[in-house]
Formats: sequence, structure tokens, C-alpha cells
Amino acid sequence: MVPRADHPISRSSISPNALKVLYRLKDAGYQAFLVGGAVRDLLLGRQPKDFDIGTNAHPEQVRELFRNCRLIGRRFHLAHVRYGQEIIEVATFRAAHTLIDEDNSVDEDSRRVLDNHGRILRDNLYGAIDEDVWRRDFTANALYYNIADFSIWDYVGGVADARARVLKLIGDPETRYREDPVRMLRAIRFAAKLDFTIDPATARPIAKLASMLDGVPAARLFDEVTKLFLSGSALRSFELLREFGLLAHLFPELAGVLSKATDDTAEQLVKLGLSGTDDRIKSDKSVTPAFLFAVLLWPAVSRQAKQFEAMADSPIQALQDAWDTISARAQRRVALPKRFSLSAREVIALQPRFDIRSGRRSLRLLEHPRFRAAYDFLLLRAAAGEVEQSVADWWTEIQVMPAEARAAQVELTGREQQGDAPAAPVRKRRRRSRSRKPRSAPDA
Ligand code: ATP
Ligand code: MG
Repeated sequence: MVPRADHPISRSSISPNALKVLYRLKDAGYQAFLVGGAVRDLLLGRQPKDFDIGTNAHPEQVRELFRNCRLIGRRFHLAHVRYGQEIIEVATFRAAHTLIDEDNSVDEDSRRVLDNHGRILRDNLYGAIDEDVWRRDFTANALYYNIADFSIWDYVGGVADARARVLKLIGDPETRYREDPVRMLRAIRFAAKLDFTIDPATARPIAKLASMLDGVPAARLFDEVTKLFLSGSALRSFELLREFGLLAHLFPELAGVLSKATDDTAEQLVKLGLSGTDDRIKSDKSVTPAFLFAVLLWPAVSRQAKQFEAMADSPIQALQDAWDTISARAQRRVALPKRFSLSAREVIALQPRFDIRSGRRSLRLLEHPRFRAAYDFLLLRAAAGEVEQSVADWWTEIQVMPAEARAAQVELTGREQQGDAPAAPVRKRRRRSRSRKPRSAPDA
């Protein structure tokens, strides 16, 4: 136990709503602790993302204390206490029996169910705090801040590890990864986000067990991937995932292209995309899984599109087909919800349209609902050396021009392009019909 005098966590840095919940539980005679990431973050002087609470009150007992409370969860029963936008999660302490039946599968009595690889399927046996601690993942995540006397309860040396910025799994690392392979991704995520090193014993089994990620449901991997890449440490997470051999189990297509690449264009594009995402988060701009997946799948998609081009009606068609092929494969590992997938597809399919910079039709791209995202993607491709910078600059400039200047610009670009290569008759005809248009239909 670390008394209040020996740690820096003050109530003023805890959300007032979390304090309300803690005090009400305590006043009703229950134990009430701030738990998990919030204690760790406060200890490190970071602003916690959310405030989770642990208690010996059962979920039904928690519900009786709060009007604004809902019980949720199938795998874990949890109480959510809602204050406007803020939800305080209250979890009952759970015991960590690792009883496995002789057939290596189910132990109904312990109410904890493991499959035959040692994975936890259900975990609902309530327990005491000194049992709850052992089912947590890393020592720095297993700290309990007691509202009764403001001390930190530390059974596993988590305070020292947090101070030393080292990530250490509780218990035997290999066993803990087998119980839940997602812990390998959590190790990477916390190391990247908190700038921790991974303790050698915790790091060692990852290479051997990486393929266990293949058995994790694709929807859960999507949640984990968004946390890895949309929390401000995407670039570092990416580097660590590669280093530990995990990338190939999340995005096999990407890992394949990167390992076979003869130049660093694809790698540059991904890295610039991820650091751009980190920058946006730092400056409080919005980020979306759609753009992220467009970046992560692009190297494989553009390679596939080149193979499709010979058979396709147009470059746009080839790209759409390539996206459909690659993203269908990627979905089996990491399930990108449809709404994101559709807009990622659009961002990608718009890329060939940036090549058309003559004729008024080219300007219609500016009105496309996905123009902004597609343009950002173009900038990325230019920065990675995949597209001429002058093309990106042309689209940067045209956006800020008044309408008349835009029209003049597309005429000029058209003439320049014709000067480059003598115009084919088809092209001439098209240009003529277009320049007649405004005169023949002035009120259209
Ligand atoms: P963040 O700041 O990213 O939310 P966190 O530490 O709060 O980090 P959560 O995923 O919110 O992480 O989980 C809350 C706590 O629950 C963790 O600190 C950890 O103690 C425990 N936990 C979560 N997931 C697991 C897991 N897969 N295995 C073991 N313990 C876990
Ligand atoms: Mg959390």
C-alpha cells in the first residue's frame, strides 16, 4: 500500500462524476477504488481518458444506488453510471481462477470459460480485490486508488514499474498471452502511447505467439486497431507492430508489400499517413478509420490495380475492383464497418480524377463530397513520391481561386497539355463542344 503522502494523485485531478460515484459506494458501505488506466495515467501526470471504478458491490447493488445506471455486457457484467456525456464504468471485483477441465475446455463451476487454446471466453465470477488484481494485464494497469483514505493499493509492484516506465505482464507472460492474445497488441499500444519499454520477459513470447491473433474475432481486432492507430501514437505503434512480427497478422497484404518492396514509396506513404494522423489528433482535428484504412490498404490496392488495369474499362474501375479484392481479404482479419469501407473506397477511386486537369469537367471534382479526404490522400501520395508534386500543387492552388480564375486555369492547363502532345482528334472535338456549352445553354 502506498499512503497518500507518498504519491502525487490528488482528488482535484479526478473527474467530479467519478468522485461522486466513489463516495456514494463508500457511504453505502462498499469498497470503492479508482482502477486501471486512470490510476496509471494520474501517476504519470497524464490526463486519463476515462475513469473506471472497481468495487465489491455486485452489479445489481450498484444499480440500486444510482438512478442513472445501466447494466451492460455479456462477457463481463458492468454497471454504467451516466452523467450527461460522461459514463463512469463500475466493475465488480472478479476472481481469476484459471481452472481448466480435463478435456481442456470448460469449467462451468468457476463460471470462467476457456477454450482449448486457453483463451478466456466468459469471466463472471465475483471476487475480492486481492483476486481481481491477478486477472489484470500489466502491473502498471493493476493499481487501485482507495477513496476511503486516498492510498494506492499495489499488489504487483505497479507503482515502481510505472515510475520506471516499464510494461510487465502479471504472472507467466506466455500463459497470459494464450488466455487473451489481444494482450500482445495491448503491450504494443501502451508501449507506444506511454513511451514505456516492454520488459524482456513480457516481450519474448510475442514472436512465437503472434499467429494466435489469427484466432481473434475480426470485430475485436478492429476495436484494437483503432485504439492503436487513432490515439495519437500511430507511427510508433506501427513500428513496434512490425518489429514484433504482429503487423503480418493484422494486415497481411500490407506486410507482404512492404517486405517485397524494391523502393520505400509504400513505406513512406504509410508512415506519412500515420504521422499525419498523429498530428491531427494533437491539434484536435477529427480522424476517421476510413482514411486510416485507405492508407493501410493503399500499397496492396495500388499494386493490385496495376494488374487489373489491362482488363478494366478505366483506371477508376481497376482501382475499385482492386479495393474490393484487397479489402475483402483484409476484412477477414480486421473487420472495417461498412460505412467506413465505403468512404475509403471513394477516396481511393477518386485518385485517378486528379490526373484530369483540363476542361471544366475536371472542376466538378471540387464539389465531390469526398474531395477533401481524397485531396489529403493525394498530398500523401505526392509527399511519398508516388505522384508529381506539381499535380498536388495544382489542386492546392485551384481550390483558393475565384470561379473565373479556375475556368481560365483549366483552359490554360488544357492548352499546355496539348502543347506537350499534339491533340488527338477526339480530344479536339471534346474541347470544342465544351467551350460552346456556356453559349448554347446560358441559363442551365
Ligand atoms: P486506456 O487509457 O487506453 O483506456 P486502460 O488501461 O484504461 O487504458 P482499458 O482497455 O480501458 O485500458 O482497460 C481498463 C483496465 O482493465 C486495464 O487497465 C486492465 O487493468 C484491465 N484490462 C483491460 N483489458 C484487459 C485484458 N485484455 N486482459 C487483462 N486485463 C485487461
Ligand atoms: Mg480505460
